[in-house]
Amino acid sequence: MNNNCVLIIPRELCTGCGACASVCPKNAIHMQQDAVTGTFFPSVNHSKCSNNCDLCLSVCPAVNWSNTVRTKQNHYALGDYVQAYAAFSSDHKLRTAAASGGFTTSLLQSLLVQGYISGAIVSRRVKGDPFQTETIIARTPEEIDSCKGSIYSPVCFSEVFRNLKKISNEESLAVVGLPCHSQALSLLIDKIPSLRKKNILKISLVCGHAPTQNAYRYTMKRLGINETDVVDINNRGEGWPGFLRFQLKNGDIRRIPCGDALSWGMILSSPVFTPDACQLCPDPGGFAADIMVCDAWLPRYKKNKEGINLILTKTVLGDRMVHNAKNNRDIDLELIDIDDFLRANNRVFTAKTRNHNIAMRYLIGKNLTIFHKNIKEIEALGFMTIIKLKIYYFHIKFMKFMKLSKFSNHLPKALFFYFKVVQLLKR
Ligand SMILES: Cc1cc2nc3c(=O)[nH]c(=O)nc-3n(C[C@H](O)[C@H](O)[C@H](O)COP(=O)(O)OP(=O)(O)OC[C@H]3O[C@@H](n4cnc5c(N)ncnc54)[C@H](O)[C@@H]3O)c2cc1C
Repeated sequence: MNNNCVLIIPRELCTGCGACASVCPKNAIHMQQDAVTGTFFPSVNHSKCSNNCDLCLSVCPAVNWSNTVRTKQNHYALGDYVQAYAAFSSDHKLRTAAASGGFTTSLLQSLLVQGYISGAIVSRRVKGDPFQTETIIARTPEEIDSCKGSIYSPVCFSEVFRNLKKISNEESLAVVGLPCHSQALSLLIDKIPSLRKKNILKISLVCGHAPTQNAYRYTMKRLGINETDVVDINNRGEGWPGFLRFQLKNGDIRRIPCGDALSWGMILSSPVFTPDACQLCPDPGGFAADIMVCDAWLPRYKKNKEGINLILTKTVLGDRMVHNAKNNRDIDLELIDIDDFLRANNRVFTAKTRNHNIAMRYLIGKNLTIFHKNIKEIEALGFMTIIKLKIYYFHIKFMKFMKLSKFSNHLPKALFFYFKVVQLLKR
């Protein structure tokens, strides 16, 4: 029997990044999408996979997650870093239309116009079919702009990772992704000699989780929207924290504030709609990235409705690129304390780093030695914390056993409220 990703990776650990499919020398792996949840997973043509090369496993984040990538400071949640900043785009229109403060889009556009990069790998919802996502190599500022905003849905990089190998070594590229995409790219760079020769700037978004498509079905049902009438979905925008917007065929736009119970508050962030791989993910912000980007969830920025990002430069290259954009007056930048950067997303950093070992032991159990090989445990947990986490993960197990996510459209709102309370156990 061959050692390939399908045999070794149970579906619940796969982040759907697509690195395995992009690296297979026999083209034996292609990414499939679950029709109901929208999550991606590899499918292997066993007759083509005959050489036991194990390349797919060597680039798989689920197997190789590491919080020690190129780490000198060895910070438990951040890995290595240079400096933390508050930042936003100098373009006011972009700043209010983007996910947080438009830093990412402005940085990419600035680096492209100044010639530091020749393209940027960015993602967007497919026009007219917003339940599908695509990742492109953008070559113009307009193309980069077309990808602004956060996509709280599964995004697969297999095609673009495959195309990376074909790009000339003279080119410099920036790649924006979630921590799983960033980790996968880092593993690909380590394994593929031609990728090592390219200059690649990795930008990672801090990520709580990416909800399944069922979250939108539930929300649309509550809003009385027919799925086939939806031509576009925007998760953020119109100021900060902005609105979740459904654009309909007849031109109508249905908007709900991001803080609303149906939006980020109770539905999109519910464990019912959280893919298993996100429950198990140990990387809050992209250990392997050059720059981490997130929202400014700090009391002192709460009144600002135009949008502010917090960013962390993790490498000298990342810091240099941020200053290149600042010197060109494309972004505003202010130094902040590293503790403030952590505090803004304390919930995400704690849940993903501290709880990870319990999650693995409780939800996966017997395969522990194969997965997450390079994650170092950061602290011994107290008795009460372990009990609270066990109760939380018991709920996750029970929910899976009952297949609640499959019947989510029929679940009462009270159950989501209950899960919102249960979520407090993992903080
Ligand atoms: C699934 C998800 C979960 C997140 N969770 C948190 C969180 O818990 N806390 C927090 O502070 N911030 C979180 N963020 C990050 C936050 O929503 C913003 O994306 C980030 O602050 C960048 O803002 P910006 O204004 O600079 O982005 P923009 O200038 O609007 O640019 C966003 C860039 O991100 C890319 N992008 C968007 N979604 C995806 C995706 N799913 N996969 C790959 N690339 C993508 C786009 O292509 C674009 O280039 C999350 C983002 C996502 C997508």
